Amino acid sequence: MKIYRAKHGGFCFGVKRAIKMALEAANEAEAVYSLGPLIHNRLAVEDLKKRGIRPTEKIDGTRKNEAIIIRSHGVAPDVLKKLKSKNCEVIDATCPRVRRAQRYVQKLIDEGYYVVIVGEKDHPEVRGLLGYAGRHATIYNDRHKIGKRKIGVVPQTTLNQERFNDAVADLMPNVIEMKIYNTICRETAVRINEATKLAKKADVMIVVGGKNSANTTRLYQLCKKLRRSHHIESGNELKRSWFKGAKSVGITAGASTPKQQVDEVVKSIRRMYPKKKKRYSR
Ligand code: SF4
Repeated sequence: MKIYRAKHGGFCFGVKRAIKMALEAANEAEAVYSLGPLIHNRLAVEDLKKRGIRPTEKIDGTRKNEAIIIRSHGVAPDVLKKLKSKNCEVIDATCPRVRRAQRYVQKLIDEGYYVVIVGEKDHPEVRGLLGYAGRHATIYNDRHKIGKRKIGVVPQTTLNQERFNDAVADLMPNVIEMKIYNTICRETAVRINEATKLAKKADVMIVVGGKNSANTTRLYQLCKKLRRSHHIESGNELKRSWFKGAKSVGITAGASTPKQQVDEVVKSIRRMYPKKKKRYSR
């Protein structure tokens, strides 16, 4: 079995940075809480818990030697305000690229645009972006026309570029003025391009990452359109029947998947299909 492994599968810059900040805080503080799971990966969150970083949904204030960490997705300004009012010790690990998208939303509002955010309505990053626009914003939905003539459009950083282009083309005929900030992160584009190439080359695709990770699920859906594909969280889920008739497998991972999880999947496939030893004739 030939294994093609994506070079850029796994943690993106923003997630690596947030985890580093959380681990450093955990070394110093008695307790570190992340506002929501630090990353969308069940196994990695379990591992972080063992290292003293526990997810919480409540903002109750922090005690001495405790800290609360804002994950890479960022939060709305009212959440920051609430944390401040409760005198929490805050470590802000919002990815700088998400922060830039938040600033663009704020700028559009200041300039009098109605903001349209293209992304998943329940995603924490999108909820955070919406918070910067208040009531003067909506999430793009291709079934509803937007009755505003001057709009500003901002995508979720992990959106597929094609989806964003389609949304812009759909919005265009009904507005007089449109200002676009393309905040799609290049880490996303790199992962999508690489996964597309692998799915065209390999007989089977394995996408590794949390089932609750939006960007991993999108990678899987993309691969599924091109090739027989499976989305798994760990090597234990692999089934021999998936590889029937296959000579090669492509492996990629979402931006919230630790490298060790991908390594473990590669090892599991190697165990299923060990390399044949060369025979030498005398
Ligand atoms: S995908 Fe890009 S914008 Fe989102 S957290 Fe990662 S590096 Fe930041």
